[in-house]
Amino acid sequence: MGLLTEGSPLSWEETKKLAQHVREHGIIQFINLFKRLRDREGDVLKWGDEVEYIIVKFFDDKKQAKVSLRGHELLLKLNEKELADPDGVKSLWRPEYAAYMIEGTPGKPYGGLLAHFNIVEANMRHRREEVSELLKPDERVMSITSFPRLGCEDFSDPPAKPTPNEGATRSLFFPDEVIFPGHPRFKNLSRNIRERRGEKVAINLPIFRDKNTKIPVDDSFKHSKAALPDHVYLDAMGFGMGCCCLQLTFQACNIQEARTLYDQLTPLCPVMLAFTAASPIHRGFLTDVDCRWNIISGSVDCRTEEERGLKPLKENKFVIKKSRYDSIDSYLSPQGEKYNDIPLLYNEEDYKKLVDNGIDHLLAGHIAHLFIRDTVSLFSEKIHQNDEEDTDHFENIQSTNWQTMRFKPPPPNSTIGWRVEFRPCEVQITDFENAAVVCFVVLLTRVILSYQLNFLIPISKVDENMQKAQMRGASMEQKFWFRKDITTQISPPEANECCKTGSTNCEPQKCDMFVQMTVNEIINGKEGEFPGLIPLINSYLSNMDVDADTHCTIQQYLKFIQRRASGEILTTASWIRKFVMEHPDYKQDSIVSEKINYDLLKTLEDIQSGEKYCPLLLGQSTMSKTKETVPSALKEGC
Ligand code: ADP
Ligand code: MG
Ligand code: MG
Repeated sequence: MGLLTEGSPLSWEETKKLAQHVREHGIIQFINLFKRLRDREGDVLKWGDEVEYIIVKFFDDKKQAKVSLRGHELLLKLNEKELADPDGVKSLWRPEYAAYMIEGTPGKPYGGLLAHFNIVEANMRHRREEVSELLKPDERVMSITSFPRLGCEDFSDPPAKPTPNEGATRSLFFPDEVIFPGHPRFKNLSRNIRERRGEKVAINLPIFRDKNTKIPVDDSFKHSKAALPDHVYLDAMGFGMGCCCLQLTFQACNIQEARTLYDQLTPLCPVMLAFTAASPIHRGFLTDVDCRWNIISGSVDCRTEEERGLKPLKENKFVIKKSRYDSIDSYLSPQGEKYNDIPLLYNEEDYKKLVDNGIDHLLAGHIAHLFIRDTVSLFSEKIHQNDEEDTDHFENIQSTNWQTMRFKPPPPNSTIGWRVEFRPCEVQITDFENAAVVCFVVLLTRVILSYQLNFLIPISKVDENMQKAQMRGASMEQKFWFRKDITTQISPPEANECCKTGSTNCEPQKCDMFVQMTVNEIINGKEGEFPGLIPLINSYLSNMDVDADTHCTIQQYLKFIQRRASGEILTTASWIRKFVMEHPDYKQDSIVSEKINYDLLKTLEDIQSGEKYCPLLLGQSTMSKTKETVPSALKEGC
């Protein structure tokens, strides 16, 4: 989403009537765009990160921490520089779903030089400083994935009351005032998703069962039949879209390379989700999951009862397996085709129109599949468009299919090429950790392309991995499907056939193209069996001319990734769990009280700002304020 512009959202009834109009024109717009840009060549690697932040307000006298709803106010200030000099700013700021969130990106994308890795962390730090300058003395900008007590009584400043019987959300816990107020899009989406679905969204998170955990966990089940008594019940878009994440976008040299990157990064999504897990607490309870993914997926699940398979189809056309926020359903490159083992739903006529216009089977299937969704947000000024030039209807559907990967065509009349976005990661506490994750993934893309690696596994196995990735402690305890020999280009068809899920006569010995490995084995390697992603990156780097500074920066990041993968450094989620469970006030009842929440956030803030140094718990830069105390082990190679 760009800078704030005004707009008049249509009611759900009006939007619903125009769903087919948006679909038809969106597909025509994609066809026109494709015809213009399919042969676009010669774009160079550019990439950028997106970090989302929460504004936290500390009440030191009462030992409370709340979300501060000043995102809009801050954005208006933060955007002033960009409005005055769009090309001269170091950072760009955008609104996000919640009134306590903001999103920051570098002012310009980075380029192909390895030396750019030297400025990623500094840019992230700059962004934090830029926001910090505008904050009140008791406010802090924090890159936490979920605010632990979101939805608890008086969790915001100013305080607001939920309105279960009216308004956009109708939540028992999440007031409409906590939705970003500066643009109607977010409230409108919340209302339309609820109305399309025919009821409020419902997310039930398994509670972490400690010695004194009470079941039922609270009395939500008395107020809503959707609430399961032994789960933490969440009933608003804000519980998911109010979480923060770390995303990356890459520009490819042409459409083929973009398809390859889209596919090859797909099996890495669950691995990186588990690796970056950072959100074990929701609505004041320790849960049995470590990640936001299923919450955010459920928080915008606009499928009707018919579409969810709960009622026979009458009004709707399909039973749809997933929410519009979920993992991708198909690979796009010719190499990926044989691993597309889950049926792709689409309207035949949409698919046919795309194919009749020269779009190949894989891309036509992908686009037609995105378009099974109705628009859930339409503005009156955008209804009638010039399909030769505009792409708003296409973007309307594309940008509300929130998937693990996004395939992004070049915008009209721009110098930007075909891009892919990597979207699974949870955001980390420190700039050092976020920079490390970013540099690791960027380097992986270079290794994938230079060595023509093949990470593809059946897409159904990626889905299986996505569910495992979110379990408590997954990064250490779960095993993930991964391709054993990532150097083969052409895999034996019989082994492939056999390994598809659902095959009844599977012979395990032929299935050894896909093995189950821990995150540690995938990242650090498994003796004699799997080379490991970091050793591959190091081998790639050893053939490059890297200056000493850049080498030092990259090695710090890679060492951190290795240590976290091995468990020597905890995931953010495990660290947070440990903090809560060791807190003197914790009663082994899964409840994260106001005091525990306050102490947790204070400590995370101290770590993030470098006041406290504990590199073996959370990743911290050796460039932080307390440099002198850096253990020598961490200085290796520098
Ligand atoms: P979104 O689709 O998430 O709103 P944007 O289109 O705003 O994303 O792009 C956000 C990210 O893309 C930022 O990290 C930005 O630095 C990066 N970016 C901008 N231009 C390019 C480009 N030409 N190639 C690759 N990444 C780019
Ligand atoms: Mg965002
Ligand atoms: Mg994004």
